[in-house]
Amino acid sequence: MSSTTLRVAILVVSTTASRDPSTDAAIPALKSVLEESGKWTVVETQIVTDETAAIQKQIKSWTDVEEDNTVNLIVTTGGTGFAVSDITPEAVSELIEKPAPGLVHGMLAASLQVTPFAIMSRPVAGVRKRSVVVTLPGSPKGAKENLQAIIKMLPHACVLASGIDSRALHAGGVKKLEKEAGVADAPPATPLSNDPSLGPTRRNRASPYPMLSVDEALQKIEDFTPGYVEAVRPVNEDLVGHVLAEDVFAAEDVPAFRASIVDGYAVVVPKGDSSQTESGTFSGVFPVVGVSHAAPDEGKVLKAGEIARITTGAPLPTGANAVVMVENTVLQSLTDDGAEERDVEIRAANVRDGDNMREVGSDVRKGQLVLRKGAKITAVGGEVGLLASAGVQQVTICRRPVVGVLSTGNEIVEHADRPPLGLRLGEVRDTNRPTLLLAAQEWGFDTVDLGIVVDQPQTLEQTLRDALRQVDMIITTGGVSMGELDLLKPTIERAMGGTIHFGRVAMKPGKPTTFATVDVKQARRDSVGESVLSGSTSHSTRRVVRPIFSLPGNPASALVTFHLFVLPALHRMSGEHPRGLPRVPVALSHDFVLDKERPEYHRAVVSVGADGILKATSTGGQRSSKVGSMRGANALLCMPAGPEPLKAGAKVDALLMGNVRSEL
Ligand code: AMP
Ligand code: MG
Repeated sequence: MSSTTLRVAILVVSTTASRDPSTDAAIPALKSVLEESGKWTVVETQIVTDETAAIQKQIKSWTDVEEDNTVNLIVTTGGTGFAVSDITPEAVSELIEKPAPGLVHGMLAASLQVTPFAIMSRPVAGVRKRSVVVTLPGSPKGAKENLQAIIKMLPHACVLASGIDSRALHAGGVKKLEKEAGVADAPPATPLSNDPSLGPTRRNRASPYPMLSVDEALQKIEDFTPGYVEAVRPVNEDLVGHVLAEDVFAAEDVPAFRASIVDGYAVVVPKGDSSQTESGTFSGVFPVVGVSHAAPDEGKVLKAGEIARITTGAPLPTGANAVVMVENTVLQSLTDDGAEERDVEIRAANVRDGDNMREVGSDVRKGQLVLRKGAKITAVGGEVGLLASAGVQQVTICRRPVVGVLSTGNEIVEHADRPPLGLRLGEVRDTNRPTLLLAAQEWGFDTVDLGIVVDQPQTLEQTLRDALRQVDMIITTGGVSMGELDLLKPTIERAMGGTIHFGRVAMKPGKPTTFATVDVKQARRDSVGESVLSGSTSHSTRRVVRPIFSLPGNPASALVTFHLFVLPALHRMSGEHPRGLPRVPVALSHDFVLDKERPEYHRAVVSVGADGILKATSTGGQRSSKVGSMRGANALLCMPAGPEPLKAGAKVDALLMGNVRSEL
């Protein structure tokens, strides 16, 4: 036995893989688990067919040998199921001299946490000669998970099985052994949601999720929501709502030529001489030698003593260096046909070189910074016009995420499906989906209506998986409380392998608000949250992180938590700053009762009167099921928890969802 690492042999039992070893994925999966800890060296890998003799012959070749050549651990993978050809446990059992049911139990218990199908696995484990033998399932994922469940304990078992003096080994006691195995100081396993397959009797009776403050929850959103993805877009009205992902520089001078800013006459003012007369007036009768509209006569040079009629915005004729407004002129004579001006008298004061004209690049210089990275393109701020005028053809923007909205619940029906008063007992019209779709659209995001899904684990999982292919973020409502039909957390966490960053927030309404992320392979190109994981460039896997917000089912809670939590995440994904609703101090216009334990987000109307002070008035009953508490509300008041009501006139922060109402 090597003094530093333990020797492992991996045996793949698979008729398919024995024919074509390239189909095997189990060996690399198991090797990665084993070699990660630095305690194991994989010394042998073999693939055999699903035949008892082949399996036994291979295992014996590793165990029934000289002590120095023996391996410490043999893991088999494959052939542990219920198919006719599955005979690995039987073949291995016949070889095992000391069964180790504890290892079997450990593997099954861990697998059952992942999938109820683990019940169909038939592992065996034990010792033959000086080696520990364990059978793992055939799927690389299952094999890996089973091995991970026991790997920390195996070194100790293998050392004992190899025949080392056990008293020396046990000096220091169990604590020392645990420490060596790396299990003593390990943090408790992440609490998992209810396992729906266990039914209501074995569900958690207390939420396993820590109760976070609103600020802590917002920090998690900031930490785990993916950032924006860049995309190049042509300059047009579709840019509105996007944030620039780069500084933008003018492609051209504006104006691109010397242009008049008035209707009048282009003149030649002698250089360095501000006027032709003592008093600074520029006067006299001049011949009109040309006309400059949009395109002047090129090549024609205006000389001192000549003038040319010019319109606003038109290029100055070559030689001209100022423009006199038509208001300061008098027509003196016409051409013979009477159709044109021949001579015009100029009566202007203080005409200087450069008057009434814009120099090339005097508005914007070519190469000048016109918009900064992070600037938002608005419909009212003239950004598109600025880009257009500066000759910018395309810009790099932060792509805006597409949001999918899904209602969950067996009782939820399409709001238009039943005629008024036609609901059956228990049915509830879907309120949240239309509400949230509109709210997301109002904030400028494209949405996908994901419909209503029943409270059934497989259907829910499939719906979420399908949705993850279409959208950058999913918002669900309902199914996040503590009932046995509250399936969102377990589905995301157990079935989809997602991570729940928080599942409870100390607030009212919205306590069960849940934020999770799921890794998705093979995303759409150009998708928000995309990153290419390491690997050789030709085989790199595309993986994206998709946030899922599971909001409470009560309609007022859903809309409050959308504004409080989902909006900042959407802003992060689209590169916007600041994130979330704007916050302003307001004065209460009447007394407000407070919740004794949780801070409350009270729906209110914020208005401003002649005194310029922002005042907040409650929209009335705040029960979380009461969607009417949102009607007309333009703000969420951040009310602290407390025993006594907050008095009229007290100052609180308001989060503005809409425009402040004017009482003028
Ligand atoms: P749940 O968290 O699924 O138990 O839902 C809490 C409450 O919200 C229940 O009374 C549900 O009927 C109600 N609810 C859930 N989803 C919706 C929805 N989309 N529209 C209206 N009410 C809903
Ligand atoms: Mg429900």
